Amino acid sequence: MSASDRAAELRALIEDADHRYYVLDDPSVDDGVYDGWMTELIRLESDHPELVAPDSPTQAVGGKVAEGFAEVRHREPLLSLSNARNADELADWHRRIVSLLDAAGPAGRPLRFVVEPKIDGLAMSMTYLAGRFSQGATRGDGVVGEDVTSNLRTIRAIPPRLRGPAGASPPDVVEVRGEVYLPLAAFAALNETRAEAGLPTFANPRNSAAGSVRQRDPAAAAERPLSIWCYGVGFSEGLHLASQSEALDWLREAGFRVNPEIRSYEGIDDVLAACKAWEARRGEVDYDIDGAVVKVDSLALQRVLGAVGRAPRWAIAWKFAPTTATTVLKEIRVNTGRTGALVPYAELEAVEVGGVTVRQATLHNQEDIARKDLRRGDTVIVQRAGDVIPQVVAPLIQRRTGAEVPFQMPDRCTACGTPVVHPAGEVQMRCPNRSCPAVIVGSLEHFASRGAMDIAGLGEKTVRRFYDERLLRDVADIYDLAARRDELVALDGFGDLSVDNLLAAIEHSKDQPWERVINALGIRHVGAITAEAIAAVVPSLEALLAAQPDDLAEAEGVGAVGAGAIVDYLGSAVNRATLDRLRAAGVTVGAPARTAATDGPLTGRTVVVTGTLGRMSRDAARAAVVAAGGKVTNSVSRATDLLVAGTGGGGKRAKAASLGVPIVGERAFHAILAGEEPPPHRPSGDS
Ligand code: NAD
Repeated sequence: MSASDRAAELRALIEDADHRYYVLDDPSVDDGVYDGWMTELIRLESDHPELVAPDSPTQAVGGKVAEGFAEVRHREPLLSLSNARNADELADWHRRIVSLLDAAGPAGRPLRFVVEPKIDGLAMSMTYLAGRFSQGATRGDGVVGEDVTSNLRTIRAIPPRLRGPAGASPPDVVEVRGEVYLPLAAFAALNETRAEAGLPTFANPRNSAAGSVRQRDPAAAAERPLSIWCYGVGFSEGLHLASQSEALDWLREAGFRVNPEIRSYEGIDDVLAACKAWEARRGEVDYDIDGAVVKVDSLALQRVLGAVGRAPRWAIAWKFAPTTATTVLKEIRVNTGRTGALVPYAELEAVEVGGVTVRQATLHNQEDIARKDLRRGDTVIVQRAGDVIPQVVAPLIQRRTGAEVPFQMPDRCTACGTPVVHPAGEVQMRCPNRSCPAVIVGSLEHFASRGAMDIAGLGEKTVRRFYDERLLRDVADIYDLAARRDELVALDGFGDLSVDNLLAAIEHSKDQPWERVINALGIRHVGAITAEAIAAVVPSLEALLAAQPDDLAEAEGVGAVGAGAIVDYLGSAVNRATLDRLRAAGVTVGAPARTAATDGPLTGRTVVVTGTLGRMSRDAARAAVVAAGGKVTNSVSRATDLLVAGTGGGGKRAKAASLGVPIVGERAFHAILAGEEPPPHRPSGDS
């Protein structure tokens, strides 16, 4: 094939992939494959400069405005970044800019660089006029983006008003740039919920964040806990900054989230070390980073260097090892989880992904497998996103030989052999045997896990061992282990020290707050967030045992499904006996009152939220009250200081009115949170 034909072919492939990735948020190929095409095209174009067309994807920023969005013309273009994939490429870039600057004159030396994490999210431009957030836009093609103002308003980390620096009046215009992302934990939870509901799972946090920000419905966008890291100032009027470091300081003072680990460096060796340090930390942070961005610090020098094509010359992205890889799916196996759900997983030929050897990956459920058409023996794309369990993204159909075998769910539990059931309306098949060892061991593991009772030393292996030794059959047995110290010390691989540490951790866990205890019980549909919502309305075990299903179902964040699951759970005599034993062991079964930050616009106020809010979910509104120093309760009484009422919520509104409790709408609520207006006081003599 001639160079020109190959270039045309690559352009067509890239344009197609760009559309799927940037417009539809549904990539058709893996990033590694895409990057390979792009690298090849850049090389072809540099070997054959006559092939460079102005409309080549190497010259343009990828996104396009999707239908249904108003267009926003950026005051200054939002560019992409060129990449350095290794130390040589970084050194080349450094040499290039040094010689360009040498040619331009000696100004602004020594040369300093800022190294920032490259967040794998969605670039956003946020314009503030006279200090107020006025417009938010996606990057789009770099020149024209999509107006997503209402969706961005639902992100709590984006300040509605600039806060500082103290004493300075806000600039007339400032355009702040940042990357919207979905925290990894939220991504994992979102996919789990979607899998359980039979919906397609998202390939990675970036796509789910992009999908949320570009929702047509702000309420739907508000349901996903998006956040943002801000990293730059674009166009501004009335703001005088000399460097990227100053811009980051200004952003912090103005109230934006700026990564606290960003530093500046002088020599390129230190820059390289900083890039590698970010790469080493990539698995520790709760957001996806796919590289580190190196920027020339001085804005004057940035202007001298300018941009070429789709990327500035003054910055470069140090690309991390890819988090996707290709390998062979050797076998699809099935595990029974703690709720009895049969969860398939993939056994893979060991492969390095993002610096870690991966041998297994989750497959969610049989529908997901069928949707992706994964078969035993397929060559597949595997992906790791930070801490999230590796997943199989797709098979490479073109590599099929015909020997691949489609998957069939087993009809018996793989742990206990009990015939599985497939409850109507559910995606997951289940083992109905409550004494299934997989269910018991899974429940014990969950109880002791970090997000629940957090018992260090009682991980997967130890739980299984204790189960096999008949030391544990029920979560309450954990608190009887202290009385069986001698048996523990006698176990192979255990000694006085490790047993004492474990027993101390168990003792310590008795003080975990009530909401964690609720979560630890492992009730179906009741995860950490629902557990918190339950603890807010039923502050103790007594209250839980006495609660009426309707009260629970009405509590925000619990809903009919959660309430039903709790009622089912409490309906079992075995579970009630477990709860009694936990209480007798001294485990916390009552919540301390929900108290909050000591200093905020709502400090000392008791607030009830009702009705449907446009900009945030009620849960988010309640969290915002707590963050602002207030206390949240569920029902209006004489002790209520403020009712925040969205649309609907008539009953509470009427009650508040009759008790003289001040009522505010959503707009006033945001003004109070932002410190723009004081919360209204009750008319005196009314309480
Ligand atoms: P990019 O994402 O590699 O780099 C530019 C972007 O980095 C900026 O627009 C900004 O959003 C972001 N960024 C994050 N942190 C930053 C910081 N601290 N400072 C400045 N910018 C920061 O470039 P791109 O043009 O957006 O996308 C190219 C990438 O997208 C490729 O690596 C490719 O893998 C992927 N892609 C994949 C497909 C696919 O089909 N799989 C299609 C298109 C693009």
